[in-house]
Amino acid sequence: MMGRVASPSTNLTHAECRTRAESLELASYDVALDLSRAADPDAGTFPSRSTVAFTATGGDTWIDLIAERVVAARLNGRELDVAGYDGARLAVPGLADGPNELVVEAECRYSRSGEGLHRFVDPVDDATYLYTHFEPTDARRVFANFEQPDLKARFTFAVTAPRDWQIVSGQREAARTDDDNGSATVTFAPTPPQSGYLTAVAAGPYHRVEDLWASGDQKVPLGVLCRASMAEHLEPDAIFTVTRQGLDFYDQAFGFPYPWGKYDSIFVPEYNLGAMENPGLVTFTEGFIHRGAATRADRARRAEVILHEMAHMWFGDLVTPRWWDGTWLKESFADLMGYHVTEVATEFDGAWTTFAGRRKAWAYRQDQLPTTHPIVATVDDLEAARQNFDGITYAKGASVLKQLMAYVGEAEFFAGARDYFARHAYGNTELADLLDCLERSSGRDLQAWSRAWLETSGISRLDPVLETGLDGRITRLAVTQTATDPVTGASVDRPHRVVIGLYEPVDGGLQRVRSIETDVVGARTELAEAVGGPAALVLVNDDDLSYAKVRLDAGSLATVREHLSTIPASLSRALVWSALWNATRDAELPASEYLDVAFRQAGREPAADLLDTVLGEVATAIENYLPTAQRPAARSRLVATCRAGLHDATPGSDTQLTWARHLTRAATVSADGSATVRGLLDGGALPEGLTVDADLRWACWVALAAQDAVTSAELDAALAADDTMTGRRAHLLATASRPGAREATWQRATTDESLTNDQLRALVQGFSRPADPPAPAYAERYFASIVGWWAGRTMTMATILARGLFPGGSLDDGQRPQQHPVVRRARAWLHEHPDAPAALRRIVIEQLDDLERALRAQAAAP
Ligand SMILES: [Zn+2]
Repeated sequence: MMGRVASPSTNLTHAECRTRAESLELASYDVALDLSRAADPDAGTFPSRSTVAFTATGGDTWIDLIAERVVAARLNGRELDVAGYDGARLAVPGLADGPNELVVEAECRYSRSGEGLHRFVDPVDDATYLYTHFEPTDARRVFANFEQPDLKARFTFAVTAPRDWQIVSGQREAARTDDDNGSATVTFAPTPPQSGYLTAVAAGPYHRVEDLWASGDQKVPLGVLCRASMAEHLEPDAIFTVTRQGLDFYDQAFGFPYPWGKYDSIFVPEYNLGAMENPGLVTFTEGFIHRGAATRADRARRAEVILHEMAHMWFGDLVTPRWWDGTWLKESFADLMGYHVTEVATEFDGAWTTFAGRRKAWAYRQDQLPTTHPIVATVDDLEAARQNFDGITYAKGASVLKQLMAYVGEAEFFAGARDYFARHAYGNTELADLLDCLERSSGRDLQAWSRAWLETSGISRLDPVLETGLDGRITRLAVTQTATDPVTGASVDRPHRVVIGLYEPVDGGLQRVRSIETDVVGARTELAEAVGGPAALVLVNDDDLSYAKVRLDAGSLATVREHLSTIPASLSRALVWSALWNATRDAELPASEYLDVAFRQAGREPAADLLDTVLGEVATAIENYLPTAQRPAARSRLVATCRAGLHDATPGSDTQLTWARHLTRAATVSADGSATVRGLLDGGALPEGLTVDADLRWACWVALAAQDAVTSAELDAALAADDTMTGRRAHLLATASRPGAREATWQRATTDESLTNDQLRALVQGFSRPADPPAPAYAERYFASIVGWWAGRTMTMATILARGLFPGGSLDDGQRPQQHPVVRRARAWLHEHPDAPAALRRIVIEQLDDLERALRAQAAAP
């Protein structure tokens, strides 16, 4: 709840929800929401009435509701005492043995944090837009319900709103009545049985484009919606194309007709995540509508997310995990499908390079934090569930399911999926239900596989052990495996299917001349087939079949320093970059050596998406892993590299735009870039083919602001020229990025509760300038404040503050990482707060680990 102290009962435990599910059987909800006053800024709340029909075996229960006020509640016609309502739960005593009807009327609050019913006013035209986001448990901010995924029901929504608005939900409109004051009440068709967190409503003067997907006797109306002021930038044809390609694919592959009638995709402002799989009304971040130039990688990313959410229409929506410990399975499955279907069914081939280079980096990072967990994790309560939407759940899970698909065979994998949807449609399941189907379709026993990959934590490390003869050819090659489960401390032996690529220079490029596909099992695997092969580059896990951290031998490192960008396959290049990056993060490869390779090779990297990943890692290496004294020179070199890349790139290419984006980023931490950035803004340094659109323009202004090289009047003029949501957010970021703004930014971020989620993110981002770390006093204020933030804000807002304002720092000469004052302060806080909410402790532990990793890398500098 905004502005109110969250009651402890907002958390929900697995144990109490399991008990509730055993005692209730749900039939239906009728939900009436009166949003007719939404455009009135003085109306902070809206009337909500929820009518639930269910059977019970007598006794007492409770219903979940986070409302400003409960107006009335009736059970089977009897008034309930609502005086004991604690802000999160309403007690429901005296259930009938048999059918029950519960009616709860409440005043619920419009959200500014993206949780519940978010309200946004467009600065361009003052139009009001509403949309919901409920996962995991924020439906209770909009209507009273039994908030757990295994209590499925049919939902009938009736929404009253201004009659000239678009009023949409997950099902088609069934009836509409106009009233006298300019409103209409739209009643939607009842949903098939579904979980409450998957329901959705949106209302506002949205722009809407329609199309149709048809196959056999199936006809699915398609819609794409966005704010009216974004309509000129919407690319509905591109979105419909991917949507139809996805429906074609899943309809065939899953063998179950699309279950939800219609398929609307709505792009909404101030969204906390990429997208959400509400059946029939998928919500997407507006970040997928490009106001200016976009690269193929930007469009590929949008396609992948569209296809991820669409996979959920079956996996997650039609069949739903019983509890939040099953979230990983639906997310991993959808993630795998998102990349797989992008690769096989759309124009955006190359998806697996992005997966290897970027998505798996997220998993590798998360899997080395002290808070990592098995893919199959225990999730005791809701707060833990929220923190588990992480790199393990999505990216590691998808990597491992990708292996599973290869292990059982692609045809058998989809046959198992068809069996699963047929058996469990409209139900709730656990992992064993899917494994049963895959075992039936493939004839393989998956128990050992599940134990090794799903029930352990951490990453296996694979090292090549190489001996060569006088002619430089391989005389012996082995791969060693080391893995310790960071949770249990036990060593783990996982079976890896891997390809080892052996490369040599041919015609000025590095060519794979031999590839060995083998199983790596146990501590050491000898590869007799490699004898006599070239040793210029030995790449373990080439083709990215397994999930593992691999290292390069010294000779291979020397080779890639000179020739990395000449490897023909982008996937192989991505794997070499990944190996270099992991070694840098582990303080085994000094950051200066990683940067040396990057500065030599990035300028010749042909794939814009991979270039983007590498340049992001370069910036991180400079600001985190390089000793302070070496940073100014490295920043200057990055600016110079970006300037040269921009100059040399093909006019109008994705590579050119990628260099331009990274030049503005590099210029935020180096005054060397300011003149070039000015030149982009005034046209003096504008290369042929590059358009400085509104977003790139703002990136320039932010860079100049961070260098104190811009006046307030200039920033205000920039805002006047682009007074949009994006412009206002960028202006806020630029203002907060100015060196003199730190105290004011801290004050506003931590005290102004009228800020929206996006505004808070902009302030926090501006505050945390890597080149100019905050004074130690902010560390004290941080640790004195976080418990209060957690108690007084919603989970989203508290997380933005606790993660974003965590104090950083660098190693002083001769200092050991564990002596660093922020490390000591954070350790003391953890020691003194054993009973702080587990989710908050998790954030502090992770931020501390990131800092310690950075300090170790700095200490490893030559
Ligand atoms: Zn998902």
